[in-house]
Amino acid sequence: MLLIHSRHFPRGSFHAINLCGLIFVNTRHGRLSARSLRHEAIHSLQQREMLYVGFFLWYAVEWGIRLVQCRFRAIEAYRCISMEREAYAMEGHTDYLRSRRPYSWTKFLFKEKK
Ligand SMILES: [Zn+2]
Repeated sequence: MLLIHSRHFPRGSFHAINLCGLIFVNTRHGRLSARSLRHEAIHSLQQREMLYVGFFLWYAVEWGIRLVQCRFRAIEAYRCISMEREAYAMEGHTDYLRSRRPYSWTKFLFKEKK
């Protein structure tokens, strides 16, 4: 995992974005916490197991479906994407990266929101 710090990317309220294992961190939001680093590391595992292109295709399609389900509330739709659900649910578990099984994000596909 390689961190790239910038004052300009990612834009908006996003603190970090993971593109193929490169973590771009907007320094205007401060440094990434250990929890956020784990969140991004989970995305790195998801991306690798889906051969990167598959991850981004699935992510975009699921975001579009969630957008309709969430009545076009973009942030809510983003939080409902199964890959994000896994990352948010497990980012606080310090041993998760070692114990995680491949494609664990699929368990979050049909889970109800909490
Ligand atoms: Zn995420």
